[in-house]
Amino acid sequence: MDKNIHRFNDFLLEQNHTWKLSADNYRGLDYVEEKLFRFDGFVIKVQFNPERMRSSTAKVDQSSIAARKCFLCSENRPEVQNSLNLPHDFLLLVNPFPIFKTHFTIPYIHHVPQRLSGNLEAMFTIARQMEGFQLFYNGPECGASAPDHLHFQAGETGFLPVESEFLSLKQNPNTLAFSSESTNIWAMDHYLRRMISIETKSREQGIQMIEKILSRFGEIQPEKVEPMVNLLCTFADGKWILHLFPRKLHRPSQYFADGKDQLLISPASVDFGGVFITPRREDFEKITAADIADIFDQVTLNENEFRKLKDTIKNYRSI
Ligand SMILES: [Zn+2]
Repeated sequence: MDKNIHRFNDFLLEQNHTWKLSADNYRGLDYVEEKLFRFDGFVIKVQFNPERMRSSTAKVDQSSIAARKCFLCSENRPEVQNSLNLPHDFLLLVNPFPIFKTHFTIPYIHHVPQRLSGNLEAMFTIARQMEGFQLFYNGPECGASAPDHLHFQAGETGFLPVESEFLSLKQNPNTLAFSSESTNIWAMDHYLRRMISIETKSREQGIQMIEKILSRFGEIQPEKVEPMVNLLCTFADGKWILHLFPRKLHRPSQYFADGKDQLLISPASVDFGGVFITPRREDFEKITAADIADIFDQVTLNENEFRKLKDTIKNYRSI
């Protein structure tokens, strides 16, 4: 494990030695401002990070995507950007617009659409190889800036508040939805956003369960190319921990508001993990706890539909 962490950290250092844009942006992280909102038993951090503007405001409609060169395809990447090989034909690239101190983009070698279903084995395998990092997936209609090119991202563990908050949230016995010898699943309803957390020693059972949830969720959102999810995945001490956030909306009303009512926030995995990214200083300064609660309320799956996913998990006894 340690060997791999060093290999990945060394790769970032080497890359920043030759790539000025990336080096400048990682150095800039030392000056990123953060503030903290406390809620009942958990926190939301807000990070002012101007370099994330292009990601937060990425145009992801079909015609905009068709009109641009895909920045994850090898022929369009900057010559200075190197890669490491990962299992299942994925590549590790340094993300030159970081949120984490160590932030990687992990594209598939081929230009195929962003989909979770069918790619979970790769996610589990890469997460195990990248112990010490939080792997994450943004759905094609809820946060991926390249919905046309399959990719994950990764950043160091210990940064997202959800990692430690999960340890206390799961103590509430009412949240346990499924338990087997290798797998426990919790459904969290009182966390501003709704979250399904899976802890498993079995890659097969973990994959089966997520595919089952995605399949049920697909029935609830048949109009979507994929039901809207953000997913976090880590591996440590012989088990995987995943947090799945089911969504009903990509961007909240504040994103589209005018003038002083506007908040340029486009929530994805990192925000759901507990770190809101604000690319504009004015938003960083004016955002309130009530705004955060309202934004989550708009974009998280509603209670009734979340219950349907919970029932699917509770009734799953055949694996
Ligand atoms: Zn591509």
